[in-house]
Amino acid sequence: MNETTRQMYIKMGIDEKILNLSDTILDRLKERFEKIDEITQYNQLKVLGAMQDNKVSDVHFLATTGYGYNDLGRDTLEEVYAAIFHTQAALVRPQIMCGTHALNIALSGNLRPGDELLSPVGKPYDSLEEVIGIRPSRGSLAEYGVTYRQVDLLDDGSFDYDGIKEAINERTKLITIQRSKGYATRPTLSVNQIGELISFCKSVKPDVICMVDNCYGEFVETIEPCDVGADMCVGSLIKNPGGGLAPVGGYIAGTTECIENCAARLSCPGLGAEVGATLGLNQQFFQGLFMAPQIVNGALKGAIFAANLYEELGYSCFPDKDVTRHDIIQAITLGSSDAVISFCKGIQAAAPVDSHVAPEPWAMPGYNSDVIMAAGAFIQGSSIELSADAPICEPYTVYFQGGLTFNHSHFGILKSATNLLNDGIISL
Ligand SMILES: *Cc1c(COP(=O)(O)O)cnc(C)c1O
Repeated sequence: MNETTRQMYIKMGIDEKILNLSDTILDRLKERFEKIDEITQYNQLKVLGAMQDNKVSDVHFLATTGYGYNDLGRDTLEEVYAAIFHTQAALVRPQIMCGTHALNIALSGNLRPGDELLSPVGKPYDSLEEVIGIRPSRGSLAEYGVTYRQVDLLDDGSFDYDGIKEAINERTKLITIQRSKGYATRPTLSVNQIGELISFCKSVKPDVICMVDNCYGEFVETIEPCDVGADMCVGSLIKNPGGGLAPVGGYIAGTTECIENCAARLSCPGLGAEVGATLGLNQQFFQGLFMAPQIVNGALKGAIFAANLYEELGYSCFPDKDVTRHDIIQAITLGSSDAVISFCKGIQAAAPVDSHVAPEPWAMPGYNSDVIMAAGAFIQGSSIELSADAPICEPYTVYFQGGLTFNHSHFGILKSATNLLNDGIISL
């Protein structure tokens, strides 16, 4: 970087030694970043093509209210999602409150009393434990007589095919596959790995519904789970596909049968997908989706840069600095509660919003231990924006993700490292 920019970083509180380390790492990552740019190039055209084929027009940005009958923008947006994910249908709505809600709709919309749900990739994301009833909770699937079975991954992270075959029975109706590792320490699955798993499950039981929790995975690769046989994929619009512009919402893309079941659950039987006012949000949904491949590009580069810097500082990173990425999450094991808190305070201090406040650990609903969250985001809780969170427990791992631009993500990581240095947790 040139001297003027360097002085700016120093003025914004970045330590000079950390800045030097950053320069070396960025040099080393040039080729790696070019490969990510190629994926983005492809995905940008995929999104653009879907918008052109569906004749997206400014009439689609008009607001509907009340019942939202004949909301052309909403219907077209859903067709665009279906085109991108190569599915028959999609449900993309501001009435879907978050990723957990989207997953709950997909599960409870497609499961009936007496059915069994199977996770062949180990324990699902924390907030799904109460949806399923792994931890007893009001209104869980368990309360409606849907049972749950789980097959853990083998020690080397591969699928336990024998165990899965044994677990699938006449009641197994739906198989849930989480693409991203979330808060677990297993590897994130590639879309091709998901495809192999789906083929296997369908060879055991052809009519089983395969659903993929696609959170944090969208646009990281050039293919998506429904390209390799998933019947549904599900995600949050305040993560990747909202491109930082969607202020709320979730999506489910899949077969007509599955999506109609979801719509009947989201609204109610008989009304399905035909109601649901969009209140003027369509333009942000379209534009966010249009931006999403480039936003994911920045977040991915940020994650890779973080792994490279923190490994250099002696911490173990997961995924490690060299491994190919299948989601945008970077886990860094910092080993102490002080280090985790210092890291998160650094990320917060780098934010465009609320940079002047300091995050503290708290007992967040849905989680087992206290959690600290750094998020100075334009959209509350948006984790496609620069954010970090960590459960305050062994092994003191922080999960870092997002950044609407690589420059911001990079700055946040430098700020976190400078904070660790200033707090005397690392030395250089
Ligand atoms: C974020 C996430 C969810 C839940 O989404 P929320 O919007 O936080 O409710 C579910 N699964 C995975 C893998 C996630 O990353």
